[in-house]
Amino acid sequence: MKGTYAERKKKLFNKLHIKQCAICGYKQTHLLDMHHILPHEKTEKVTTYVLHNKMKLAEEECYKCIALCAKHHREADSGSWHPSFLYHIAHIGEYWE
Ligand SMILES: [Zn+2]
Repeated sequence: MKGTYAERKKKLFNKLHIKQCAICGYKQTHLLDMHHILPHEKTEKVTTYVLHNKMKLAEEECYKCIALCAKHHREADSGSWHPSFLYHIAHIGEYWE
């Protein structure tokens, strides 16, 4: 998969049906972050894989994550939600509206 970083990120999010922040529904997908629900499972930032065009690795990493806007990513990092709740609402790779 070639193209710019933004194009690769868009294709990845489309493939995994990532459409919005899982907490608030913010839909600017180019501004969403992939937050690792369990930090010890983190191999690499999804962003780093996308930057280096390692899209298979990026996809695998996304399944450990939840899509969040910048505000809710901060809150998740500060421990606002239990990991089991985040897994429950993550829905990475599934159809959801
Ligand atoms: Zn949000």
